[in-house]
Amino acid sequence: MPSREALVAIVGEANVLEPPAAAMREVRWGTGESCRCRLLVTPTDTQQVAAIVLACNASGQKIVVHGGRTGMAGATVSRDNDLVLSLEKLNRIEALDPVGRTMLAGAGATIHEVQEAARAKGSLFAVDFGARGSAMLGGAIATNAGGHRVFRYGMMRDHILGIEVVLADGTIVDSLKEIIKDNSGYDLKQLFVGSEGTLGIVTRAVLRLRPITTSRNTALLAFDSFEQVIVFFRWIEARLAGTLSAFEVMWRPFFKAMTAHRGAVTGIDTEATLYVLAEAEGSDSERDGPAFLEVLEDAFEQGLVASGVIAKSEAERNALWAIREDVDVLMRLGDRLDFDVSVPLRTMPTYLEKVEGELQAAINECSLFIFGHVADNNLHLMTVRAGSFTPEERQRIKDIIYLPLGAIGGSISAEHGIGLDKKASLSLTRNPSELALMQRLKFCLDPQNLLNPGRILDMD
Ligand SMILES: Cc1cc2nc3c(=O)[nH]c(=O)nc-3n(C[C@H](O)[C@H](O)[C@H](O)COP(=O)(O)OP(=O)(O)OC[C@H]3O[C@@H](n4cnc5c(N)ncnc54)[C@H](O)[C@@H]3O)c2cc1C
Repeated sequence: MPSREALVAIVGEANVLEPPAAAMREVRWGTGESCRCRLLVTPTDTQQVAAIVLACNASGQKIVVHGGRTGMAGATVSRDNDLVLSLEKLNRIEALDPVGRTMLAGAGATIHEVQEAARAKGSLFAVDFGARGSAMLGGAIATNAGGHRVFRYGMMRDHILGIEVVLADGTIVDSLKEIIKDNSGYDLKQLFVGSEGTLGIVTRAVLRLRPITTSRNTALLAFDSFEQVIVFFRWIEARLAGTLSAFEVMWRPFFKAMTAHRGAVTGIDTEATLYVLAEAEGSDSERDGPAFLEVLEDAFEQGLVASGVIAKSEAERNALWAIREDVDVLMRLGDRLDFDVSVPLRTMPTYLEKVEGELQAAINECSLFIFGHVADNNLHLMTVRAGSFTPEERQRIKDIIYLPLGAIGGSISAEHGIGLDKKASLSLTRNPSELALMQRLKFCLDPQNLLNPGRILDMD
């Protein structure tokens, strides 16, 4: 393993942290679990990343890559003998081309910084999710992050035009293209998107920006059944002609828990079965508001929606979004297991009925909170108990939630990735030929299994 002196020679004294300093960092969001490592390095440019990786390659040193550490699959958890490499200092927004609508940014820029830089130049970086203030570009690329605008703009991979990565042997691959179409051979950038840092370390990327939106209209709506939600979704998607940008669904227990400490939301049935946060973003700030209102009035008249409120100010909009996004409220309720599954829409109600029934029968005093990006088939499920779950109960809960997914064409991970936490369940929704190909790719690019070992697949 490279000596401390060798690493200091590459990145400088200030960029090598000893274990006590590294331990101040949380590696599993919201748990307080601290970072363990041999050393933690914070390189400041791509050449330094490559030099560190080369030194590790020569000595067989395992590397765990850190971005903003908001990942939900335990992928940034490290061991005492790992070298942790954090991209936080590669955080420059290097260039923004308003004509081509592209941005070149470092892997350590946060999603919020990228969004704001785009906005300052009249463009939109459309990827958005609750952890925007901490999650970094490299982490979002490595996890192929989703969020609440996916059905309109796509996932992270749809926003990447070019990429720069450092491979496990220290090679820098410069594929920083700015063009939308490029069929000249393999689409190499996509190999690294969603690979969770197991195939290469992302150092910079060229992002595709979109036209900025100038109007934002948001409503919280109540429904009596899932079928009504889906009928309404298809209806409003067509009526708003491409401007619907968020359609977040919350089941009643989730809604109640998230609103319990805020006081009642006025104007909406607080005993409804489901709630939808619907948002449209457009480019005509004068006409979009009245048009949104008219569409919702039509929905009420046609009986598509039971009740609802429209945000009349930015403060009201933020308050509605907080109901969906401030999920740390749930984390204070006790021991919990989080799930991020994909389920085809037509089987979602029967899947959830089965999960709820089996959880109720098998696990005492277990609350189930369901919410998610339903328009993208994506459900988040949180099981919570005031006391602790036993290891057997944890396994039983996983079985109840994961085992039905294979047969219905679902996925054990919609957007959070596999990391360390879901590796044991990967074969439930990926077949042997897929798993074998993943292993071959990993072996080809990282034969010593140095980069993020044990994430997604076991190689050793
Ligand atoms: C409140 C909250 C809400 C969230 N909402 C969403 C959501 O709606 N949609 C969604 O998709 N996710 C969501 N997440 C999960 C998380 O924010 C995303 O997975 C995010 O993309 C992770 O970015 P990060 O910088 O924190 O990565 P980290 O957690 O630091 O790392 C995640 C993975 O990427 C690897 N990695 C990090 N940087 C690099 C790099 N430069 N090169 C190669 N590998 C790298 C790590 O090794 C690890 O495997 C949420 C998380 C929280 C806490």
